[in-house]
Amino acid sequence: MKPETKPPTSPVLDYLEQLHREFAAVKDGDVATYIPGLAKANPNWFGICLVTATGAVYEAGDSRQPFTIQSISKPFVYGLALEDNGRTEVLKKIGMEPTGDAFNSISLEPGTGRPRNPMINAGAIATTSLIAGKSAHTRLQRLLDMFALYTGHGVTVDESIYRSESETGHRNRAIGHMLRNFDILTSDPIPSVELYFQQCSVSVTARDLGIMAATLANRGVNPVTGKQAIRGEYVESILSVMGSCGMYDYAGEWIYKIGMPAKSGVAGGIIAVLPGQLGIGVFSPPLDAHGNSVRGIKVCDAISRHCDLHLLNRPNIGKSAIRFKFTGAELNSSRVRTQEESQVLSQSGGGIKVYQLQGHLSFITAEAVVRDVIGDFDATQQLILDFKRVLTLNESACRLFYEILLKLAEQGKPVLFTHTGHMPLLRRYLKAKLGKRFEKLFQPFDDNDLALEWCENRLLKNVLPARPARQRARVVEYELCNHFTLGELKTFASFLKRQSYKAGETIIHIGAEAQEIFLLARGGVSVFVPQAGGARRRLATFSAGMVFGEMAAIDRAPRSAMVVADTEVECDVLSLDNFDRLGVSHPATKIKLLKNLNLSLCHRLRKANRELSLFD
Ligand code: GLU
Repeated sequence: MKPETKPPTSPVLDYLEQLHREFAAVKDGDVATYIPGLAKANPNWFGICLVTATGAVYEAGDSRQPFTIQSISKPFVYGLALEDNGRTEVLKKIGMEPTGDAFNSISLEPGTGRPRNPMINAGAIATTSLIAGKSAHTRLQRLLDMFALYTGHGVTVDESIYRSESETGHRNRAIGHMLRNFDILTSDPIPSVELYFQQCSVSVTARDLGIMAATLANRGVNPVTGKQAIRGEYVESILSVMGSCGMYDYAGEWIYKIGMPAKSGVAGGIIAVLPGQLGIGVFSPPLDAHGNSVRGIKVCDAISRHCDLHLLNRPNIGKSAIRFKFTGAELNSSRVRTQEESQVLSQSGGGIKVYQLQGHLSFITAEAVVRDVIGDFDATQQLILDFKRVLTLNESACRLFYEILLKLAEQGKPVLFTHTGHMPLLRRYLKAKLGKRFEKLFQPFDDNDLALEWCENRLLKNVLPARPARQRARVVEYELCNHFTLGELKTFASFLKRQSYKAGETIIHIGAEAQEIFLLARGGVSVFVPQAGGARRRLATFSAGMVFGEMAAIDRAPRSAMVVADTEVECDVLSLDNFDRLGVSHPATKIKLLKNLNLSLCHRLRKANRELSLFD
C-alpha cells in the first residue's frame, strides 16, 4: 500500500507565510501609549489574514491573538448608523470629506458644525450617537450583535482597555461637548462618548478583521457564515469613507499606492477591502508617525503589488458576458424532426439567435450583449437569452434587456428568457415596466431546449403548410420501413404487437433489460437522463412514425435512458425475439430494416457531433 501523503499547502498560504517571515524582521515604529492599556502590547505580535469573497480564509502568524479594534470599529458602526437612520439623516450630521488632520483633531466644518467625516473621532462619536436603542445597554448590545455578524462569533468588550481609555479620554469628551454645542449631538454627550470607548475596546483578532473586511468585499454578506451583516446598498458608503479617509492623514498616499479602501486602528490593526474580491486583516502593534501599523502597511503594500489588487487598475470586462452564441440553423432542439422539417430548420433556423450569458451582468457587460443583438437585428427573428450561468444581475442590466425586448416586440420578434429562476430582479423589473403586457412579452422557459423547440415550432408553422394532426401512423409510414415492398410490410406487421400507454407513463426504465424496439404509432414520447439534484435532461422527443429504444437491439445492453409518454401513446412493439426470428425467416427484409436502423442512428450521431463541435 502506498503511504498516505499529506495534500500540499496552498500557494496562497505559502505566500502569506513568506510575507510574515520577511516583515517580522522589521522593528520600526512604536506601540501606542496614549491609552495606557495599549502600551502593554507585545511589539512582536504579528498576524496576517486574507479572506476571499468566496469564503477561503488564509492565516499566518499570530492571527488568533486578541487585541482591541479601536478605530477600525468606525466604518462598521457607520454602517449600522446608516441602517438605523438612512443616508439623508446621517449626512445631515456627518460629512464625507477627508481632513488631512490627525484622527483626534478638534475640528468641525465651518457653518454646519458637522464633523467632516465619520473616520475622525468627532465624526465617529457623532456616528455612535445615531445608533438606535432605548438604553445604553441595548445600544452596546446592538453594536456587539453587529460585530458578531461580521466576525461570525460573539464578541466582547475588553474591559481593562475600555476603563483605561475612559479614564484618560478627556480629549474625546471635549469633542463630545463640542458636538453638543453645535447640536450635532442633541443630548448629554457623555453616554455616546462612553459607547464610543466601548466600541473601540471590542476584542478581535487578525482573522476576525480579515473576515470583516471580506464581508464588506462581499456586499455585506459574511462569506464564511453566509449571513448578511449589513444591507448591501450601504456597503458603498462605508467603503467610500474608508477609501478617502480611512488611513488618518496617510489616506491619499495609501489609496495612490495600495489602492484599496482601508481602515487602521491604534492598537495595530488594519483592514483593506477589494470589493467583490477579498479582504485583508493585519495586526502588528508598532505604529508609524501617522498612527498606522508599520508592518500592516508593508504587508498590504506587498500584497497589493504582488497580487495586482489596485482598485483603479482593473481589467476590461466588457466582453465577458457572452459565453456562447448560436443559431437555430446550427443546433436544433431535442425534438426529432422529419426530413422536411430538418431542411427548413437548416435553411431558415438562422433567424433564431441563442445567447448563453454568463458572469456578472451590469451596465457594461449587458451593453455588449444588446450591442450584439442590435448589430444583428434584421437577421434576428426570435431571440433566446439564457441566464443559466449568470451570477449576478443589476438594475441597469435589466433596463437594457427591457429596452431590447421592446424593440424586438415592436417588430413582432419574440424574446425568450431561460433559466431566470435565480434572477428574481429581472422578473420584478420587467413586470413593473411592462405592466399589462408582461404576461404576453415575458416568456420564461425552464431550459434552452424547450425554448428552442418553441421557436422551431413557430418557424415551421409559418413555413410549412398546416398538416392535420396525425391520427395513427400506418406501418408503411414508419421510417424503419422505408423501401419495404408490400409483401415485406405485411410480413413485418405480423411480427409486431400493439401496446398503449397513458400520458406520463414510463415506457422504458433506466437499467432495465432491453426486450423490444418501439415503433411510435400515435402520440409523442421523450427520452430523459437523470441529472444531479433530481432534475432530468431531455435527450430527444419523438413523434408518430419514428422509432425508439432501438439501440439495445444492436448492443443488447441494459437501457441507458428513460422514455416517458408525453401524451397518450400507441406503439407497435417488435420484440427482440421476433427481431431475431425475422432474420431467419426473411433475411432480405431484415437487411432493409437494419439499413433503416443504421440510417436513423447515423442521423442522431451526426447531430451529436455537430453539437460537440459547435460547443468546442
Ligand atoms: N479609541 C481611540 C481614540 O479615540 C481610537 C483611535 C484610533 O484607533 O485611531 O483615541
